[in-house]
Amino acid sequence: MSKWEENIRRVTPYTPGEQPNRPGMIKLNTNENPYPPAPGVTGALRALKRDELLRYPDPTASALTGALAREYGVSPEQIFVGVGSDDVLAMAFMTFFNSGRPILFPDITYSFYPVWAEEFRIPYECVPLDADFGIRKEDYFRENGGIVFPNPNAPTGVELAAEDVEEIIRRNPDVVVIVDEAYVDFGAHSALRLVEKYDNLLVVQTFSKSRSMAGMRIGFAVGNPALIRYLNDVKYSFNSYTMNRAALACGVAALEDRTYFEETTKKIIETRENAKRVLREMGFCFPDSQANFLFITHPELDAKKLFEALRAADIYVRYFAQPRIDSYLRVTIGTDDQMEALYRFLRDYTKGLK
Ligand SMILES: *Cc1c(COP(=O)(O)O)cnc(C)c1O
Repeated sequence: MSKWEENIRRVTPYTPGEQPNRPGMIKLNTNENPYPPAPGVTGALRALKRDELLRYPDPTASALTGALAREYGVSPEQIFVGVGSDDVLAMAFMTFFNSGRPILFPDITYSFYPVWAEEFRIPYECVPLDADFGIRKEDYFRENGGIVFPNPNAPTGVELAAEDVEEIIRRNPDVVVIVDEAYVDFGAHSALRLVEKYDNLLVVQTFSKSRSMAGMRIGFAVGNPALIRYLNDVKYSFNSYTMNRAALACGVAALEDRTYFEETTKKIIETRENAKRVLREMGFCFPDSQANFLFITHPELDAKKLFEALRAADIYVRYFAQPRIDSYLRVTIGTDDQMEALYRFLRDYTKGLK
């Protein structure tokens, strides 16, 4: 080993879901939205001028923070934006989790949390979900260095009731509580209104799922102005120009079309509720999801084998080779046509059973 290698910051990286690109494939593996973004988004892209691109973007991203503030009924000082919510969450970990005490998050959750904790040398404890994959609020009523959890949780889709979320925030006034609402627009309850009441709450959301813009990389956080100021101080000390001009313009355009947003999220909720019925009929079990995916298992099927069979048929879903969840598959809700193709495959695959 070279001498310089002794001083490397070694990390076990997060492994994102694979991004295959095969003609005719059915991609239900990374919780993207199957519908394209609002029509105005591509309009905004086309309207970008060449001599706009030669200038640095607005470091305060004021067009986007302003549009978000209007949309969510808060002031622009309560909004922080970043390159996807992954960027927002990474900045928040770096900014808020410095006490030396362990931060808490569920044992089954977004697998990026332990990666950031390791990278920023934040001690952490994984708190087991209950047998039904629910968060037990009482487990978070103890000394800690901060709390983060998705609501609805990933990859389970389970929502923690609004009053339980509030109790976790209320019982932890001395640390920052981050609620990662990547999937909240698919029918769950947001903690957003609580930012006026609790100065230790940061709510994080993204344009990647409900606004169909995973490729544009836009995320944001809403919180008390003091929290947002601290986040911006860290961001400016890292990279002042995180949001490029195309992302800013597209983000604003997406927010302008509320009708489209409501129609597409409603459609996905309908398709999900239908998927619950169809899959249950085939013998699959799953926790009740409020997200744009289902976390399915079948008492008579090996999840890994099914995952591989689906893959061979160009239907991509997500399998996690992890304790407690290695008999499950996470299936993103696609269009009705994509889901029908999935059901056809599964009907055939489960035909021999029973
Ligand atoms: C998808 C996801 C994110 C990050 O999404 P971005 O594309 O970076 O905005 C964050 N948290 C959870 C739980 C997610 O599933």
